[in-house]
Amino acid sequence: MQELTDRFGRAHHYLRISVTDRCNLRCLYCMPEEGASFTESDKLLSYDDIEKVVRAGASLGIRKLRITGGEPLVRPRLAELIQRLSRIPGITDIAMTTNGIFLAKEAHALKAAGLNRVNISLDTLDPARFRLIARSGGIQRVLEGIESACDAGFHPVKLNCVLLKGLNEDEIAAFLELAYEKPLHVRFIEYMPIGHADDGWKKHYLPLQKVMDIARQQGYRLTREDGVTGSGPSENWQMEGAQGSFGLIHPVSDQFCRSCNRLRLTADGHLKPCLYWVDELNVKQALGSEEDMKQLFYRAMAIKPENHEMAMKLAGEGQSHTPTSRRMSQIGG
Ligand code: SAM
Ligand code: SF4
Repeated sequence: MQELTDRFGRAHHYLRISVTDRCNLRCLYCMPEEGASFTESDKLLSYDDIEKVVRAGASLGIRKLRITGGEPLVRPRLAELIQRLSRIPGITDIAMTTNGIFLAKEAHALKAAGLNRVNISLDTLDPARFRLIARSGGIQRVLEGIESACDAGFHPVKLNCVLLKGLNEDEIAAFLELAYEKPLHVRFIEYMPIGHADDGWKKHYLPLQKVMDIARQQGYRLTREDGVTGSGPSENWQMEGAQGSFGLIHPVSDQFCRSCNRLRLTADGHLKPCLYWVDELNVKQALGSEEDMKQLFYRAMAIKPENHEMAMKLAGEGQSHTPTSRRMSQIGG
């Protein structure tokens, strides 16, 4: 078996699977408030289709999966998919990213089905602000989802917090305190220009250096560490005496493409070698044969670009290629 290695020597062991492009929220950095169009359900990859893609990938060295969306928990019978994927030889780790609204009643069943880890998105601890950013209520349900994830035995439970200039930057200290008091790993994420045709994202983009400045101002004694399971591109920090920890994902201010090990599968059946660029491969035509599917994975390696150009977009410089027009909800993050 020839492993999945791209032209730049990067080995690929990680596949992110979007199971739907639908969502019960409308986060302002991810989806339009109104008028979003969605893939019709008969055009989504079925669970049989997803299993075929993962079997081919696993035979080429894919080991880790992340289930995402849209909101993955709006797709019916998600635990069944997780159970099927967890039984595929070679798959050693399955994680999920969710907005947490439907998690409280599902957490135990998902754990029993074979889900290993969970990331829950939470950008604010303030109910009114939650309504502004997510354009919906429900923060209490997210908090209950976090509790249930801890009860169900997921460890570590991670919180994804997209930092937004002028919207939640004044809550950095509160999120750090949360990670100090509770066994949670808070991941601050830079706002990325994905699917934004204009430069509107610049208004709320904030480099993550601000988190380090505030952590030091608050007097935390910090140690850099790399041991959080499944940390991927996250730069992780321990606070002396803390129950939890925090991490920084800064694709714009400090690109981490040189260590990229991931591919993405969209809900409508496209393999994306890079989050940022337009290039993608249609998997539906290869579903009939495992050999065709493997060739598609190799093709994804052959066309994978060296890096994205988010920083150039921030600087107002031209782009060397065409960025994707998909929104984050249509890719999975
Ligand atoms: N609905 C689920 C959720 O919100 O966790 C999963 C899908 S969501 C697209 C996956 C992650 O992408 C979330 O943590 C979300 O905050 C993040 N995200 C969405 N749009 C983003 C953007 N423009 N920049 C940075 N992160 C983004
Ligand atoms: Fe939905 Fe997640 Fe996008 Fe928010 S970030 S709109 S919860 S898909």
